Amino acid sequence: MTTPAYKRVLLKLSGEALMGDDAYGINRATIERMVADVAEISQLGVELAIVIGGGNIFRGVAPGAQGMDRATADYMGMLATVMNSLALADAMRQAGLTARVMSAIGIEQVVEPYVRPKALQYLEEGKIVVFAAGTGNPFFTTDTAAALRGSEIGAQIVLKATKVDGVYTADPKKDPSATRYSTITFDEAIAKHLQVMDATAFALCRDQKLPIKVFSIVKPGALKRVVLGEDEGTLVHV
Ligand code: UDP
Repeated sequence: MTTPAYKRVLLKLSGEALMGDDAYGINRATIERMVADVAEISQLGVELAIVIGGGNIFRGVAPGAQGMDRATADYMGMLATVMNSLALADAMRQAGLTARVMSAIGIEQVVEPYVRPKALQYLEEGKIVVFAAGTGNPFFTTDTAAALRGSEIGAQIVLKATKVDGVYTADPKKDPSATRYSTITFDEAIAKHLQVMDATAFALCRDQKLPIKVFSIVKPGALKRVVLGEDEGTLVHV
């Protein structure tokens, strides 16, 4: 079966996923592997937008940011996501994919600003759109940016890439008897106090009836199986 289950998806990558086994920063082999995964689903004809975090860069500067004003530190975090977005778009270009970076913060000399109709146009043209600088506001996260942009572009699902292959009944590292949920409703996840995305992002997806698929970015072929609608990771739905 090679027919994708979705026409348009929003992929959320954490910045830390770019580190590979390094302590911080961008690991070349890791970003290339991620781009290869992205290329596979792009070839299926799925319209793809990506939100990437900044943890891999921001963690490196965080000790020096201690005691800083929160909003200032958050703007630094957003700038870190711009760096990751540029690196990702460049790696996609090198792999023969066409990507556009759009920033929620005005830095026109570096990347074009986020303009919704333009983003929709790019997606319709089959270009991969990378949304940089999160929501553009401090006190938010890139998970919330993923929920927000996913809602704005009419994505059918938010694909949340993590290091674990889904949502478990308990922390699988601590409890060997923990089992993975194949599907779970938003209400069940709340009742069971399961952490899927941060609370703001989770609430927005729930309000918008935008399903979330939690899956492993380190498991080979997982992204493709998710896009083909196979039983991979955990589907959180209304
Ligand atoms: N950030 C922010 N507003 C946003 C998105 C991100 O202030 O809309 C800042 C915040 O400081 C956050 C950092 O950017 O800690 C990096 O984003 P995030 O933690 O979501 O990245 P990830 O953990 O996914 O790498």
